[in-house]
Amino acid sequence: MSLLDAALVRLLPAVPKPVVQVFSSRYIAGATLAEAIAVVRELNAGGKLATIDVLGEEIVREEEARAIARAYREVFAAIDEAGLDSTVSIKLTALGLKLSYELCRENLLDVVQTAARYGNFVRIDMEDSSTTDDTLRLYRELREDGHDNLGVVLQARLRRTLGDVLALAELRPNVRLCKGIYLEPASLAFTDDEAVRANFLRCLDALLESGCYPAVATHDEWLLAASLARIARRGLGRLEYELQMLLGVREERRDELVAQGHRLRVYVPFGERWYRYSLRRLQENPAMAGTIARAAAGRVLRRRSP
Ligand SMILES: Cc1cc2nc3c(=O)[nH]c(=O)nc-3n(C[C@H](O)[C@H](O)[C@H](O)COP(=O)(O)OP(=O)(O)OC[C@H]3O[C@@H](n4cnc5c(N)ncnc54)[C@H](O)[C@@H]3O)c2cc1C
Repeated sequence: MSLLDAALVRLLPAVPKPVVQVFSSRYIAGATLAEAIAVVRELNAGGKLATIDVLGEEIVREEEARAIARAYREVFAAIDEAGLDSTVSIKLTALGLKLSYELCRENLLDVVQTAARYGNFVRIDMEDSSTTDDTLRLYRELREDGHDNLGVVLQARLRRTLGDVLALAELRPNVRLCKGIYLEPASLAFTDDEAVRANFLRCLDALLESGCYPAVATHDEWLLAASLARIARRGLGRLEYELQMLLGVREERRDELVAQGHRLRVYVPFGERWYRYSLRRLQENPAMAGTIARAAAGRVLRRRSP
């Protein structure tokens, strides 16, 4: 990313929402469940799996958190009715984690039990480090209560993650391993790209060593190759791991990986609350952030000129 782009990225939150919406549309399936289902149908037709996320991390009231849990019931019913191959991903703050642990637990249980009735699976996304302890505690509690259709995410960026892999190993967890999108202080996180990559591979090794099901979530070609080499060295079968990518990112590479025989799942977010998710995607797109900030600056300047 150029210095100019890096500076512009920091200004993105000041960009008008309609501009952000135009540029982020590739990352979001749409505002409605029907649009998400249409995207998943197309992905499945192209040999890809999906995981649907109901965008909702911006909620502030208990009733909104309960509404998100109800929205997931509709998602499971729609996946089932359309005969699609898709799980769901969920953010605990959307289920009320910042309002009350108990409210969030109730909502998550509701989603997990509904998933089980449909023979489906729930992945808890990982958010910023203020949520890590509660997220892992909830994951453990539900798994220890026998809810096996539940997976979690670990972030290689965090220094604690290898310890978390080892602590969770006895549960044989289904883990999505990613770099982690949230900016964290150096006391908690590796800030150097190479250190994040190295920790990703250390954590993947530990997951493989303990017989966990790994979902390798990255678009980083170097990391993808290193991860696939490790998976091949251990002789894992096609159903013993998966690759994951975000909607709208590296679509051609996705197709190649599927053609090579890997199972690949695409993260499909939808909903009215698209703003925060979109900002994060634009901020990590090396080319797009600068383009949109310049487009927005152009709008402002045009408005000011006679
Ligand atoms: C399926 C999935 C689920 C995820 N879930 C979580 C989660 O629960 N918690 C969490 O903290 N993080 C999550 N992430 C985000 C992840 O941690 C990274 O922020 C993100 O994937 C970018 O890191 P990277 O590994 O792709 O490497 P990077 O080095 O960031 O990217 C590698 C290359 O991919 C391309 N690329 C990456 N992002 C974009 C983009 N937005 N637009 C265009 N091109 C792009 C660029 O070519 C870039 O050079 C998830 C990622 C995926 C793929």
